[in-house]
Amino acid sequence: MSLKRLAILGGEPAFKEPLHVGRPNLGDREVLFHYLNQVLERKWLTNNGPLVRELESRIAKILGVKNVVATVNGTLGLEIAIRALGLQGEVIVPSYTFAATVHSLFWLGIKPVFVDVDPVTYNVDPKQVRRVITPETSGIMSVNVYGRPSDIERLSEIARDYNLKLLFDSAHAFHCSYRGKMIGNFGDAEVFSFHATKFFHTVEGGAVTTNDEQLAEKLRAMRDFGYVGLDQVEYVGTNAKMNEFSAAMGLTNLERLDEFVYVNHRNYRRYLKELDGLAGVTLMRYEETEKRNYGYIIIEVDPDVTGLTRDQLAKVLWAENILARKYFYPPCHLMEPYRTLLPQARSRLRETERISSRVLALPTGISIKEEDIETISSIIELAIRNADGLKNIR
Ligand SMILES: *Cc1c(COP(=O)(O)O)cnc(C)c1O
Repeated sequence: MSLKRLAILGGEPAFKEPLHVGRPNLGDREVLFHYLNQVLERKWLTNNGPLVRELESRIAKILGVKNVVATVNGTLGLEIAIRALGLQGEVIVPSYTFAATVHSLFWLGIKPVFVDVDPVTYNVDPKQVRRVITPETSGIMSVNVYGRPSDIERLSEIARDYNLKLLFDSAHAFHCSYRGKMIGNFGDAEVFSFHATKFFHTVEGGAVTTNDEQLAEKLRAMRDFGYVGLDQVEYVGTNAKMNEFSAAMGLTNLERLDEFVYVNHRNYRRYLKELDGLAGVTLMRYEETEKRNYGYIIIEVDPDVTGLTRDQLAKVLWAENILARKYFYPPCHLMEPYRTLLPQARSRLRETERISSRVLALPTGISIKEEDIETISSIIELAIRNADGLKNIR
């Protein structure tokens, strides 16, 4: 590897086929076909079918939560949760998240009030939350970024003190725990995404989880146009139902969930070993005593130490067919429409801006082998060693 010439400087790419971040973890084809045949025989394709209900009950068992309401995707899950909780006016939310978190609020006419994140956990900084509460604030929506839990204890205290609803965007955090208890049990409700790029997926899909029975009933109605019975509508509803084909994919993938975790964990350990001691590149750590899905391999690049910016390193990796992603970049307050609509956010989001200019997500998942990680890491090392020669790439 040391003899390699970087592809960006004219060498051969290290990989012939591109290595993607978020390539789907797929279960066994035979299992999937078995479920799909059942669906086709039954001709029950959607509307709370038996596979959706089975998926919900299996997930409820895994998470130890009373109610799992499966949805067509995570975004609609957020929207019905926001509406069912009666959020309005202003909701406190990080800018360091995927656009859907913030869009779901704005879509429902709610003003997102951005707060900065903690530089170590990348999650909402509770100290900042207290500062932006106003009489208009109705709730806090925190994101469990990369599957590492927010400071749930502090956020719950604040929610209690100010009588605010507490909702978690746990799109990244399926099969993760906080102090031994599974994510999905906290706040008023939590929302998962089962999109194809997430560690566990149903092609498109998601779920809202809650231990509140009344809320769950409302969520179930809202996901189905507000219907509570035959010919009886009670709420403003939407169409957020998961279909049977998605549930079939979910049940298939659940059978290999432990294996997905095992491989991601192994990959994480390998990155840890390979990148250890590489000055200026910090791999995000997972607390291995808690349940984690190890779904994201995140490095932070310090340009003052490496002599390379994150963007330059990303270019080097792309030239090698390693399709690393700037995730999350740009932060929500710097993307339109929020950049224009909420210009005052900038002044108080220093950590968010710093982190999003430095992070890079590297490939993992069941299609990534340990040798791949060795190669990826050696290219990062080579790029840093050649930083002087890479100064002019833009
Ligand atoms: C993926 C994701 C969503 C959206 O989920 P979809 O299922 O794609 O609608 C929301 N929030 C975060 C943090 C995400 O990563």
